[in-house]
Amino acid sequence: MIFTTDAVVIRERQAGEADRLLTLLTRDRGIIDAFAKGACRPKNKLHGVTQLFSYASFTFFEGKSVSVNEAQQKELFFGLRDDIERLSLAQYFCEAMCLIVPSNVDSEEYLRLLLNSFHFLSEEILPVRMLKAVFELRIAAIAGYMPDLVACCECGSADADLMYFDIENGVITCKDCLTDRSRLMPINASVLTAMRHIVYSPLKDLFRYSLTGDSLQRLSQVTEAFFLHHMPYTFKTLEFYKSIAT
Ligand SMILES: [Zn+2]
Repeated sequence: MIFTTDAVVIRERQAGEADRLLTLLTRDRGIIDAFAKGACRPKNKLHGVTQLFSYASFTFFEGKSVSVNEAQQKELFFGLRDDIERLSLAQYFCEAMCLIVPSNVDSEEYLRLLLNSFHFLSEEILPVRMLKAVFELRIAAIAGYMPDLVACCECGSADADLMYFDIENGVITCKDCLTDRSRLMPINASVLTAMRHIVYSPLKDLFRYSLTGDSLQRLSQVTEAFFLHHMPYTFKTLEFYKSIAT
């Protein structure tokens, strides 16, 4: 069977003498693994289009395994390779997709999040730390862990200078309703506004908001803690990113 779909190469490694084994995030089939015959050879027609981060329209042949017949390049995101911090964050995004997205599902939302994250990362439009926070909280929401950030889960108060975010249950509590603060992370109004934006805004507006200074630092801590709590994998790429992040 032959089929065509848009996809991003999120992992590639050599197989045999000159083939590549690819892991791809597709638009409508979730994650698939596919062979690209001869793609390790520099003159092969699939060499460039099957590199890591490549976004293309791929035509596959599906037999006992899946292989790439041909591919039309759409974007290569060269800017991701310009510095080690951006490169390592892009690799973290890819590893997260590999582990989180199932096979044979409609994966358009995941694909659009990844493509937009790559775009804003390669163009240096937002701080790297902000992009990481946006990605972590938004992918958790897409994967079924959407926090309820509208108002205090006890009294319904929506605006306070300080709220407490419950990582485990994905809810917020105001300081008047607080009982056990041991597992709650305090967040100020700026951090809460940013979190609401990340969770509730349409994708076209998702990257039009940023924080700076201590608030960005706090947002980053909260989104990472929430993401890792609900996605309990060991992300090797995250450890590397944190070892070199400025
Ligand atoms: Zn309350």
